[in-house]
Amino acid sequence: MRILVTGGAGFIGSHLCDKLIEQGHDVIALDNFFTGSKENIRHLIDHWNFELVRHDITEPIMLEVDQIYHFACPASPVHYQYNPVKTIKTNVMGTINMLGMAKRVRARMMQASTSEVYGDPQIHPQKEDYWGHVNPIGVRSCYDEGKRVAETLMMDYHRQSKVDIKIIRIFNTYGPRMALNDGRVVSNFIIQALQNKPITIYGDGSQSRSFQYVDDLVEGSMRMMQKDDFIGPVNLGNPNEFTILSLAEQVIEQTGSRSKIVFKELPQDDPTQRQPDISLAREQLNWQPTIELIEGLQKTIPYFERKLQEQ
Ligand code: NAD
Ligand code: UDP
Repeated sequence: MRILVTGGAGFIGSHLCDKLIEQGHDVIALDNFFTGSKENIRHLIDHWNFELVRHDITEPIMLEVDQIYHFACPASPVHYQYNPVKTIKTNVMGTINMLGMAKRVRARMMQASTSEVYGDPQIHPQKEDYWGHVNPIGVRSCYDEGKRVAETLMMDYHRQSKVDIKIIRIFNTYGPRMALNDGRVVSNFIIQALQNKPITIYGDGSQSRSFQYVDDLVEGSMRMMQKDDFIGPVNLGNPNEFTILSLAEQVIEQTGSRSKIVFKELPQDDPTQRQPDISLAREQLNWQPTIELIEGLQKTIPYFERKLQEQ
């Protein structure tokens, strides 16, 4: 098949490209390199079945493809808040452009949605039928509301124009190829620990997240793409929940770091808890994560060690 991966030079997108190439598909990675890098896909450039297109999805583009994994969007709060208007444009105009393409060429399209559509959830753990608790005017809303509108667009193109769609809601995912300046918690803590610098916990560290290793997500996404008669949305995440304080302690232990923990101000609208209910993914996709935090950190720490040495 000919498959388009938007955001293909990003952290998750590049892992997805690897697996799709491995399976023998023709893969087109499309990226504007806002947070992605050529480094993430350098090893694929000489593959006969890989193509790279520099393009910004807020502008229309026409490509002949069978499937679209729509992953282009900055995902770290630091990056998506850098230019919030651009983040909304990416989610709204970018998704309309991709849906327009999917409609014209009759491609199946997957939207990389997010647990952020649940906002600061009042239901715990979060199931797909929960409508969320999102501040529409806060600093996170360019991303949260952008992704919610993107889901709406997916559903409306499906209902109105019969576009073949899939929606996955991704929970906090980490692994090699996250950028050094990504700013999300796992990469920040590992980098700080490796440099024996203070580990910066925002708030008192009692807020929770459930961390998924990238390979598990890629497997779940590909299963979803192959599944007929199920459009989702479906949660893809690891249900093992950790407080941010316990994550800091775990990273310090696994890196053997001398770092001390420091507490900083909690950002506005930071969700207090987050844990996926993955019963639907288990039932529909026969999928569940296989890599727990200790093992995932073991696979991720050497990548950051290498990156820091290269600097
Ligand atoms: P990332 O920032 O590494 O990747 C995003 C990629 O999209 C980058 O390569 C970036 O350059 C590209 N991009 C951004 N705006 C673009 C535009 N206008 N046109 C073309 N390319 C553009 O982030 P990631 O963690 O790999 O996230 C990938 C997708 O998964 C995003 O849609 C994100 O919202 C979603 N997601 C990720 C997580 C997570 O924990 N990593 C959780 C939920 C959802
Ligand atoms: N966080 C932290 N220190 C950091 C980066 C993040 O304590 O250096 C906290 C952040 O406030 C949030 C959690 O870790 O409570 C997860 O943050 P991240 O940006 O990784 O993802 P999100 O908030 O989007 O889930």
